[in-house]
Parts: sequence; structure tokens; C-alpha cells
Amino acid sequence: MHDSTADVLVVGAGPYGLSTAAYLRHHGLDVRIIGTPMEFWADRMPPGMHLKSEPFASSLGAPHGGATFTDRNPGWRTGRPIPLSTFVEYGRWFAGHIVPYTEEARVERIERAEGGGAGGRYEVALSTGETARARAVVIAIGVAAFARVPDELSGLPAELLTHSMDHREFGRFEGQEVAVVGAGQSALETAVFLAEAGARPQILARTERLAWNDVPVPAPSALDRMLRGPASGLGRGYRTWVWSEHPWTTRFLPDATRQHLLRTTMGPAGAWWLRDRVDHRVHVMTGRTVTAARESGGRAAVTTAGAVGSPWEHEVDHVIAATGFVPDLARIDILAPELRERVKARHRAPVLGSHFQSSVPGLYFAGLTAAPSFGPVMRFVHGADFAARRIAAHVAANAKAAAPPVETVTVLESDTAGTAGTAGNVGHAGQTSPHAPVNPR
Ligand SMILES: Cc1cc2nc3c(=O)[nH]c(=O)nc-3n(C[C@H](O)[C@H](O)[C@H](O)COP(=O)(O)OP(=O)(O)OC[C@H]3O[C@@H](n4cnc5c(N)ncnc54)[C@H](O)[C@@H]3O)c2cc1C
Repeated sequence: MHDSTADVLVVGAGPYGLSTAAYLRHHGLDVRIIGTPMEFWADRMPPGMHLKSEPFASSLGAPHGGATFTDRNPGWRTGRPIPLSTFVEYGRWFAGHIVPYTEEARVERIERAEGGGAGGRYEVALSTGETARARAVVIAIGVAAFARVPDELSGLPAELLTHSMDHREFGRFEGQEVAVVGAGQSALETAVFLAEAGARPQILARTERLAWNDVPVPAPSALDRMLRGPASGLGRGYRTWVWSEHPWTTRFLPDATRQHLLRTTMGPAGAWWLRDRVDHRVHVMTGRTVTAARESGGRAAVTTAGAVGSPWEHEVDHVIAATGFVPDLARIDILAPELRERVKARHRAPVLGSHFQSSVPGLYFAGLTAAPSFGPVMRFVHGADFAARRIAAHVAANAKAAAPPVETVTVLESDTAGTAGTAGNVGHAGQTSPHAPVNPR
């Protein structure tokens, strides 16, 4: 139970929330982080899934060494896909060892506190019944609230239409025809899981052909590096490297260019290791755009159009929209409406400053909601370290600026006699000194 005002409260304990809390604490701030570690990955993703990101690009951000995915799993080299369970285990290790103060609860409401000032700017209602107070809040709630289903499918009732995020097990579809809309990793992997569960999946993809990521080369030659560009968390190529490793650069781009980048970088494509599993059991229809859908005698009738010819109607038992996630401020219902209205938005996402702060002082956003401001890497775990460092540095600077000046007291040697071990600015056991610098790695 906390009865004081925290410097900062982080909402969500996924890769972005945990990384941000780690850096914040490293600055000596009084941090609270609310959420169940790695909940989305453990509870909302199919257990048989593998990560699409390479091991070197699947690390949470920590202010010291020894905490990357490959530090914890030294045998895991580029080209070896990470099973979901291994990644969840890594994330939970990170939470347990680096952010052990994570509180397993949910944030239900965030409001501006009456008066603000030194008493804290925000009041945060928790599922435990407590109302916490904090001077700053970091929203790191991930992607779940932003599942996108195309309007064209809205004619279907809930029992015939789901999002790919709604499924961990596929046994209930055994023997059924299921249309999977989309052409990205989620669509392709969902179709494979359906086929393996005895369903008859058909992929309806807008693209003219399916795209597949290249098999990564663990140690490319100098010539290969020169021709194809360096490897980065988002893939190979010079420009990709810039957006991936230096996301701040995207802020200098005109907004339209940055949004184009967001749409086109890491566009829909399957992981190289999934290709062989998309076999004859998965019926792939490319070049088909969904234009309408309706219920027909208890089944789903989906109309698609191609570049030529007349529209087709596909009758299936169920439709799964594997159509991704789009940030939308209006869907962040834990923000009180008065507060949400004060957040300046563009493309439905919060407009963020160079340190991820929104137009409301002390309110920060990390992860997918930051992608329209910082580019495509914010959609992936790989962006967590950058976001976490930036946010922590800013919150710490603000906290320092707001702190009352410390009185200088001349301490005589005789005053400290007998108090060895208790005098001075010593953090709690296992905590970093409040004045420890951020390791600029
Ligand atoms: C099927 C699938 C596969 C993916 N594969 C990859 C991959 O291989 N590599 C990659 O880099 N990215 C992948 N992604 C993207 C991935 O979701 C993000 O990279 C990553 O989860 C971002 O971390 P996060 O902390 O922003 O979000 P999350 O991991 O979603 O964490 C946010 C957390 O906040 C919690 N939360 C939400 N609301 C509240 C609340 N009110 N109170 C308390 N807690 C709350 C959630 O429960 C969740 O645990 C994949 C996504 C999907 C859907």
C-alpha cells in the first residue's frame, strides 16, 4: 500500500512498460509499474507461435549489461526462431530480476489530480481499489486495445467474425472452412494453425502475391553488407537501419513521409521459416479485396473484388480478420474523457515530443501509440530501449527541476560517529543510487 505520491506510474508490464520502469528506477525515481508481466504474450498469443523478430532484435531495454535476450540465451543466434514460451520466460525473468516491484493489478482510470503541483498531477484508480497519485504517467498498454477489423466486414455478427488476436487454440474450427483476411505474419501463421487443427483455411489477400522475408545471413560478407546494407532490428538495408536504430531521425521527416514509412516498412510478409508450413492445406487467394460481408444461412458470405473480372462471393463457416492494429486515442478508455480531450492527436494517435511526452505535461506514451511520431520500430520490441531511455531521461530531468532545493548542512565528523552505514544517500537494498547515470550504451 502506497500512501505517497510516486514520481511516475507506468501502465502495462509488457516489453515497453518493463523497459521504461527499469530506466526510470535507474534515475533514482520513485516508480510504480502496474500490470502482469508479459500478460499479452502469455495469454493472448497462440502457444505454438514463434517470434518473427530475430534474437538480437527481441530484447527489452535495461540500463546495464546482462539483460538482453541473447545475454540470457547465449546459444540463440540469428536465424534461429524464438518460440513464444522462451520469449515469455525471458520477459518474466526481466520483470522478476530488474523490475521486481511490478504490481500485478490493472489501471482502471487516469485523471488529472485536483490542484496538481507537488501533490501529484495524476490520480490513478487501480483494480485493487486504491487511488494512486503520481507526478507523471507512462501509457505502455500495448496493442490489444487497437485491433483493427475492416469496415467491409462489419456486416457479420460476432459469432462469425473474430480478430486473429482472439485465438490461442484452433481446435474449435476442425472440419470448418475459415477465411483469413490479410497477408502478414499473423494471417499466414493463423492459416497454418487452422490447417494443423484440421480446418480448411483460405487466405484472402489484397496483395498480388504473398511476400516472404529472406533467410537471414548470420555473418554477411563485406561485399554483401555493402550491397544490401547493414542488418538492423527491422531488417537489412541502409534506410531500414536508420529508422530501426535511430528512430529520432524520423521526427525530421515531413509528416506525410513518416506515415508512408510507417505503412510500408516491414509491410505484410511471412517469416522465412513459416513458408514451408503454408502447404496445399492452405488455399491462398491473392489480389482479392474484401468489399462486403453478410450472414447467409448461419454462414459468412464474403464478397471480394479483383483487378479484373466480377466480384466473387466466398461462403465460409467463419472469418478471421488478421488485419493488424492501429493506434487510436479514442480507444484508450482508461484515460478520463476530460484528460483524453486535452491530448493533441494526429492520425488518431497522440502527438509526441522528442521525449514521448504528449501535449499534456507529464503524460507519456510508449509502444504502438508512439509509432506515428517515431516510426515503424515502435511497433516492435526492438524500439523499447530507445523509448525507455528517452522517457526516463525526461521524467528525471523534470523531477529534478521540480524538487525543492536541498539545504546544505555542514556535517562535523563527531556528528556521524556511530551512524556508519546509515548516513548518506543510500538506496534500498538492490536499488540503484538515485544519482547513478544512465549507461549510454
Ligand atoms: C501475434 C503477434 C506476434 C508478434 N510478434 C512480434 C515479434 O516477433 N517481434 C516483435 O518485436 N513484435 C511482435 N509483435 C508486436 C508486439 O505486440 C509488440 O512488439 C510488443 O508487444 C510491444 O510491447 P508493449 O509493451 O508495447 O505491448 P504488450 O506486450 O502488449 O504489453 C502491454 C501490456 O499492458 C497491459 N495493459 C493494458 N492495459 C492495462 C491496464 N489498464 N492496466 C494494466 N496493464 C495493462 C497488457 O495486459 C500488456 O501486458 C507481435 C504482435 C502480435 C499480435
